[in-house]
Amino acid sequence: MTFDLTPEQDQLRDAVRALGRRYGHGYFVEKAKAGEHTTELWAEAGRLGYLGVNIPTEYGGGGGGITELAIVCEELAASGCPLLLLVVSPAIAATVLNRHGTEEQRKRHLPGLADGSQKIVFAITEPEAGSNFHRLGTVARRDGDGWLLNGRKCYISGVDEADHVLVVARTEDSSTGRLKPALFLVPTDAAGLTRSKLDMEIVSPENQFLLYLDDVRLPADALVGESLDAGLPALFAGLNPERITVAAMGAGTGRYAIERASEYTATRKVWGGRSIGSHQGVSHPLAHAAVQVELARLMIQKAATLYDAGRDLEAGVAGNMAKYAAGEAAALAVDTAVQVLGGAGMTTEYGVATLLGAVRAGRIAPVSREMILNFVAQHVLGQDKSY
Ligand SMILES: Cc1cc2nc3c(=O)[nH]c(=O)nc-3n(C[C@H](O)[C@H](O)[C@H](O)COP(=O)(O)OP(=O)(O)OC[C@H]3O[C@@H](n4cnc5c(N)ncnc54)[C@H](O)[C@@H]3O)c2cc1C
Repeated sequence: MTFDLTPEQDQLRDAVRALGRRYGHGYFVEKAKAGEHTTELWAEAGRLGYLGVNIPTEYGGGGGGITELAIVCEELAASGCPLLLLVVSPAIAATVLNRHGTEEQRKRHLPGLADGSQKIVFAITEPEAGSNFHRLGTVARRDGDGWLLNGRKCYISGVDEADHVLVVARTEDSSTGRLKPALFLVPTDAAGLTRSKLDMEIVSPENQFLLYLDDVRLPADALVGESLDAGLPALFAGLNPERITVAAMGAGTGRYAIERASEYTATRKVWGGRSIGSHQGVSHPLAHAAVQVELARLMIQKAATLYDAGRDLEAGVAGNMAKYAAGEAAALAVDTAVQVLGGAGMTTEYGVATLLGAVRAGRIAPVSREMILNFVAQHVLGQDKSY
């Protein structure tokens, strides 16, 4: 057993940290408040190869795994730039296409995802179905050689920045007549696809949208994979990378908040010569949050290692646990940081309250803490399914 990164992974961590710090949380918040995107940071990360670390070299990527992509997510977040689209485009979309796309789809999309010139976002959530993906109502019907999609999706991140949306829809299985899931690459400018931006209480340069698919006509090759049978495995392929990288983003955000708060409490003096951090009522909550973040990081490392070793089922358990732990730890760390900073904690200048919405959302999305507890109760503890 080893807890050390390889020298290459260490270098990657240092290099991404340097990039993130050059931009910093001030940049992230400025972009969010101006209603703009972190275009410069995304483009530079793409040029430097950080967005494609998990994409095979033959498609322009770095040939690494989810361990490397988790490092990128964590370090950018630890610099105050938690980029949600890293979880969607390189983690989910690139993995799905690499594992289950056709060779033509890999050639067409992976190089752009790797250098950041293309973004593909992911749409599964629906207003009626919510957490219950068995109730998905977006349907894809055969239309000559191609497909006709109808349905609605909600909370879809980054549609305004993306070239394509990877849409999860149901198709009719001709042998059984039952509906089964399939993934479709839908261009964001496709006729019949409209969107409306949701007002979210999150300070973020990345936006969420309601999507309406009204008779969206797609060519045959919009279906991900060679046949409809690719649908379910393709859908599952995205889940572990999603959970591991969103956990890494949470752990990085927690580190960022604790670092900001510790710097402050070590130097702020309001009772004579002692720093406020010398009071255990201030330092213990911070230390407790640091323990929770570090525990989450261990679980992320385990989940990423299992995933990269091809042990998908074990990675599923570890990835869910990592996501749960990191979501809780990030929310605790940011809330604690706000508290120990006092009034400064609520200012934009000190840059922690700006993360409250994002870490709160991290306990709901992309999979809620309750659905993870359901998963663990059922698959680890052997309990009957409650729903
Ligand atoms: C910032 C943000 C970004 C997002 N980005 C995307 C995206 O890019 N693409 C995408 O497809 N989706 C996205 N989502 C949607 C997200 O994945 C869903 O919000 C999440 O899966 C929960 O679904 P829901 O909101 O419909 O909640 P519901 O399913 O309505 O659940 C509401 C509450 O009830 C609980 N609950 C529901 N069922 C059970 C049960 N059986 N047992 C116990 N508790 C239960 C849930 O845990 C939750 O707390 C995003 C959401 C947010 C907030």
